[in-house]
Amino acid sequence: MALSTTCLSRAETVIDLAAIAHNTRLIAEASGTAVMAVVKADAFGHGMVPVARTVLANGATWLGVTTSAEAAELRNAGINAPILSWMHLPDEDFTHAIRNRVDLGVSTVEHLDAIAALDASAYVHLKADTGLARNGATADEWRDLVRVARKYEAQGMIQVRGIWSHLHSAEDPATVPEQISRFQEALAVAGPVGLRHLANSVAALTVPESRFDMVRAGIGIYGAEARQFGLRPAMSLRARAIHVKRVPAGTGVSYRHDYVTRQDTTLLLVPLGFADGVPRLAGNRGEVWFRGARYPIAGRIAMDQFVVDISDTPASIGDEVVLFGPGDDGEPTVQDWADWALTNPHEILTGIGPRVPRRYTKELCFD
Ligand SMILES: *Cc1c(COP(=O)(O)O)cnc(C)c1O
Repeated sequence: MALSTTCLSRAETVIDLAAIAHNTRLIAEASGTAVMAVVKADAFGHGMVPVARTVLANGATWLGVTTSAEAAELRNAGINAPILSWMHLPDEDFTHAIRNRVDLGVSTVEHLDAIAALDASAYVHLKADTGLARNGATADEWRDLVRVARKYEAQGMIQVRGIWSHLHSAEDPATVPEQISRFQEALAVAGPVGLRHLANSVAALTVPESRFDMVRAGIGIYGAEARQFGLRPAMSLRARAIHVKRVPAGTGVSYRHDYVTRQDTTLLLVPLGFADGVPRLAGNRGEVWFRGARYPIAGRIAMDQFVVDISDTPASIGDEVVLFGPGDDGEPTVQDWADWALTNPHEILTGIGPRVPRRYTKELCFD
C-alpha cells in the first residue's frame, strides 16, 4: 500500500497508531510491569487523546502528563484511566485535578500543605531526587516530606499512592545502580507504598532492576530513538515540492549563499522551515527522501522553506518529499534529524509547529 499524495496538501505529519500499539505491547511485555505511557506535550507531538486511547487498549494502564491542563483534556475526552501529573506550583488550583481523580506528583511540603488543605483525599506520588537535581526531595528533605505526608494521610486528607524518581543518565547503565540504591534508601524511609516507579523507556528496556512496580515510557512509545529492541517509529513528516527550478553551476542558494552548486542541477523547494520545526542546524547537513533516494539540503533553512539539490532527477511541482519516516526504505529517521541538529529525537518530535496538520494512517487515502 503506497501512501497517496492526493490527500497531502502542503505538508503533514502522518501518525501510525499501529506502531504506537506495537511499541506499547512490546514495552509491557519486555518490562513485565505496569506501564505508564507518558503523553505530555501532546504525546510528543503525536496527538494526546488518540495516543492515550491507543496505549490504553494495548497494555498501558497509566498515563503521565506534566500539567493539570493536559490531565483535564484527557478527562474531558472521557478517558478514565489513572493519570499522574507532575509539574505544579503549590498555589495552583488543584480542585479540578483532584475532583477528576488525577494523581499529583509532589516534591515539597509546600505542595503537600496546599493539597491537604483541600481535604479531598487526593492521591499523591512523593518524588525523591536520586541525582537529577530537578524536582524531587533531596535525601535531607525526604524524611520531612514523608513525615508530613504520612501525617496528612493518617488524617484522611491525602493518600500516598506512589513513590517515584527520575533517572539522570539512563543511556549510561554505569550510573543507574547508584540511583537505584538512592531510590531504595528513600523507599526504606517511606515504608510500604503501592506503586514504586523510576525507569523511563531506556531503563525499562535495558535495566531490569530499575523497573519496580511500573515504568514510565515516553520516547519508546513513539519508537523514535535509534532503532533498537524492535520499536517502530510512529511519526512521518512529508511535504510537497512547491517549486522546481534548473540552475547552472556556480549558483548560490538560500540566504548568504552558504551553498553553491557544483554543476548544472535541479533545485526543489520544500514549504517547511524552522517555524514548522525543521531545525536550522540541519541546513547544509541534512537530507530528505525524494523518488527513492536521499538528497542534500542546499544552504540555510529559512522560516518557511528550504531547498534541496536533487541533481538531474526529474521532478515536478507537487511531488512528495519525505523529511523523515520509519526508515524502512532508507529514508531519514527522526534520529537522523536529531543527529544533524545536535539534539535528541524528543526535541524534533515536539518541535513540529502548528502549521503542520496531523493525519492518522487510518484516515489516509490509498492508491
Ligand atoms: C518525559 C518523562 C518520562 C519519559 O521519558 P522517556 O525517556 O521519553 O521514556 C518519564 N518520566 C518523567 C518524569 C518524564 O518527565
